[in-house]
Amino acid sequence: MDIHTDFAVIGGSYAGMSAALQLARARRQVTVIDAGVRRNRSVDEAGSTSHGFLSRDGVAPAQLWREARAQLLQYPTVRWIEGQAEQARVLPSGELAFEVAGQLLVARRVVLATGVRDALPAVPGLAERWGKSVFHCPYCHGYEVGGGAIGVIAASPLAHHHGLMLPDWGPTTLFLNGAYVPSESDLADFARRGTQIEATPVLRIDGFADVVLADGRTVPLQGLFTQPRTSPASPVAQQLGCTLADGPMGPYVQVDAMQQTSVANVFACGDGARAAGSIALAVADGAMAGVAAHRASML
Ligand SMILES: Cc1cc2nc3c(=O)[nH]c(=O)nc-3n(C[C@H](O)[C@H](O)[C@H](O)COP(=O)(O)OP(=O)(O)OC[C@H]3O[C@@H](n4cnc5c(N)ncnc54)[C@H](O)[C@@H]3O)c2cc1C
Repeated sequence: MDIHTDFAVIGGSYAGMSAALQLARARRQVTVIDAGVRRNRSVDEAGSTSHGFLSRDGVAPAQLWREARAQLLQYPTVRWIEGQAEQARVLPSGELAFEVAGQLLVARRVVLATGVRDALPAVPGLAERWGKSVFHCPYCHGYEVGGGAIGVIAASPLAHHHGLMLPDWGPTTLFLNGAYVPSESDLADFARRGTQIEATPVLRIDGFADVVLADGRTVPLQGLFTQPRTSPASPVAQQLGCTLADGPMGPYVQVDAMQQTSVANVFACGDGARAAGSIALAVADGAMAGVAAHRASML
């Protein structure tokens, strides 16, 4: 049987639940579809914690998610479906339709909160340490490195940004690894910041965060940072015809200040709708998307 709902939220993590909360509090019927594959799941797998979200600093990502979901499900107009929304399309009526576990879900308005996927540089040992001793965001995990020696594994010219920032968190070595050729002016920037440059290719990562170089040397470090390439975790935005923008880390759904996409009645929020994200930013975007979708239903 088809499922009809006023509002569908695709992606039930921080951004999506924040949008759904506003709609639930407006006493509207909202259906959340979630496949349960959060971007920061490797932090939970490593037994580590999330940082930088006001009042919830140092809490495990899964605990944040569980508590938020329990509060959201207190609202009687919220329906939660575990599963993947697929084959998105705009119906002739203007409603939005998705396939979910063999059923058709039809909504008048949709909030896309589907997040991004990270593609890491192909350095042996790096992916296994993602979320444990390898990160991309210094604001999220730099402090915990504790002032110890930090490595940056270059994956793109964005390594320049990392190489300039990270000395504020600890003595920094930038491993170029053939992925980034600094200009004279970049090298002057690194010298000013005290960033060491290592041009020998990286063979693999060993131990906690030890960089093994092609010439046989091993550089032990307290933590590593790199620049993943990101892409939408789901094709639903493209299937609906939403315009994408090109960000420095990868493409994301273009939205206006009210989180409205280029397609009528489709809003987007969180990592999938901004150039770079965090939980705090996802929650903020989600709140705006929920309010904007509610407002649109009155126009
Ligand atoms: C290693 C690592 C560490 C991090 N540490 C921090 C930190 O300490 N502090 C911080 O603020 N941020 C941190 N982040 C960033 C944080 O994870 C993201 O900013 C945040 O998860 C974005 O929330 P979101 O709701 O936009 O997307 P996500 O949390 O990625 O959730 C997207 C949800 O949508 C679902 N979904 C996708 N497609 C579909 C579909 N078609 N149908 C149904 N469901 C779908 C997914 O399964 C998932 O549940 C970290 C990220 C990484 C990679």
